Amino acid sequence: MEAGGWNLVCSMELEGKSSRAVLDRLPVLTKIDTRGIDIPAVLCPLCEEVPESLDHILIACPKVKLIWRKSFSWWGVKFPDGGMDFTDVINGLFCQHIPSHLHKVFQGVCFVRMWAVWKWRNKMVHSRVEDKLVVGSEDIFALIQSNILLWISNRFPKGKFNLKAWITNPSSIHPTVDGVG
Ligand SMILES: [Zn+2]
Repeated sequence: MEAGGWNLVCSMELEGKSSRAVLDRLPVLTKIDTRGIDIPAVLCPLCEEVPESLDHILIACPKVKLIWRKSFSWWGVKFPDGGMDFTDVINGLFCQHIPSHLHKVFQGVCFVRMWAVWKWRNKMVHSRVEDKLVVGSEDIFALIQSNILLWISNRFPKGKFNLKAWITNPSSIHPTVDGVG
């Protein structure tokens, strides 16, 4: 994960409930458009179906929702039928289904996921027309899983983490209490 990604995830974590403000700094296409800069399209670069907004690109986009669903079922958490938004994620609404010692981890997982989706979206925006199909069908889920483990081992330096065990069952990891800080 490069510096930009770490910074984003760390600021979201630090600002807690104001994470929304951090995310609002991301330049989505519709925002750029209202500033009067001439760009070819304001449709979501991933699904090209609706105008891009932050809620759409990070959660509601069908392509992104698929990743959220996958990630939730990886944790054994049911994805809400009515969908969800940032406030739910930031308020840790879904943590109630997770053992308490893993709340911070699960929350971090959500933040890293949003970062990865954002990075994927940027790759899509900047890729050549002939590459867009390939980039758009990339499965970023595996990348998210390994990046999250990297984030956790930085966040909880005293813990011992194993990628295989983590992927099989994320709840099996035990970040030590000392490592939380
Ligand atoms: Zn979309």
